[in-house]
Amino acid sequence: MLIKNANIRGREGKWDILIENGKFSKIEARLEAANGEEIIDASGKMVIPPYVDSHVHLDYVCTYGEPRYNMSGTLFEGISIWSERKKTLTKEDVKRRARHVLDWEIAHGTQFIRTHVNSDEPGHVSAEALLELKDEVKHLVDLQIVAFPQHGVYNFPNGDKLLEETVKMGVDAVGAIPHYEDTREDLVASLYHCFDLAEKYDKLVDVHCDETDDPQSRAIEQVAHQAWKREMFGKVTASHTTAMGSYNNAYAFKLMGVLERSQINIISNATINIHLQGRYDSYPKRRGITRVDELLANHINVSMGCDDIMEPFYPLGVGDMLDVLNMGIHVSHLTGYQQIQDSLDLITKNGARTLNRENDYGIEEGKTANLLIVPADDTYDLIRRHVKPEFSIRNGIVIMKRQPENVTIYNNDSAVKVNYTVEK
Ligand SMILES: [Zn+2]
Repeated sequence: MLIKNANIRGREGKWDILIENGKFSKIEARLEAANGEEIIDASGKMVIPPYVDSHVHLDYVCTYGEPRYNMSGTLFEGISIWSERKKTLTKEDVKRRARHVLDWEIAHGTQFIRTHVNSDEPGHVSAEALLELKDEVKHLVDLQIVAFPQHGVYNFPNGDKLLEETVKMGVDAVGAIPHYEDTREDLVASLYHCFDLAEKYDKLVDVHCDETDDPQSRAIEQVAHQAWKREMFGKVTASHTTAMGSYNNAYAFKLMGVLERSQINIISNATINIHLQGRYDSYPKRRGITRVDELLANHINVSMGCDDIMEPFYPLGVGDMLDVLNMGIHVSHLTGYQQIQDSLDLITKNGARTLNRENDYGIEEGKTANLLIVPADDTYDLIRRHVKPEFSIRNGIVIMKRQPENVTIYNNDSAVKVNYTVEK
């Protein structure tokens, strides 16, 4: 395949991209197509690597209203609804819903996804479903799976053993939810258990960490310290870390140094946390978002995730990372002009780094030919107009094509413009 006239993000000028055997073989100013070669003329549109959704729960998706709607919008009503819905889970049910949402993600240009899966279900139905699905969809999307003890490791019967059973099924990463444990001692013990399992089975770590507005919730320091002490550089992720938004600045300043030294990844799930956090505040109401701008300024890798899509914990979502980014840059004050340009990294290369996929990610010769063609002028234009990808190409093969929308306004009163297409 030859892609002509591509505006590759991060490079000046227009480029032709030759793809052979599923890899980028040549990127040059002008390349000629061989006989019979498939040609796509990008006509100056942007070419970027596919989006990365670094945090989602595919076992929960599309259960909103089952068996009842969350009327308060709170996490606690969500948990009580999920404990009812959970009783009716089957492998087929989980696979069907997850597969459905994967189509939404693929349609929006995502090709790399890290999903969590509950480790505390009898029979590990959801883990079995997602592990099967991972193999079935690998030509469309990379699925990474984290064993996630939703109800805690030490405040749920056999939580520690159930977590290990799920890890042994062949997932990619081990999770924990330290702020949900009953005591400070169990918080620390649950992290030791998580890291011990990761070392024993050679897995990554992704912890649901300090997802609360409680400024005393400081599991993050232990997560980072373990990452540093065990030399698991780049392999450890703390998701949410919303309590960081409520820490005092003296503690946050010290913490930034610990985080940088540990080479930990942080994931911000902006749509979910702006929805769930601040629920116990009257006014002024905190945003409940981690310190994305400060983390980035301290050279800490930050990416973003959809987290929840139409389920008891969150009612909306269509699996579109541009939705998440849009919310994220607003609530994190990343709306300076250059910050908007740079923010696309949060759902592309930073996500690939979180997933430990950065070595084979990006539009560069020799790498696997995964890319999006987006009809936008530049990154600012892409984000401002929320421009959806026209093509998603994976291993050099088109896996998604979209007809760009064309809107006509019928201006019957005007002598100048009668019917016209809305321009950007
Ligand atoms: Zn989550």
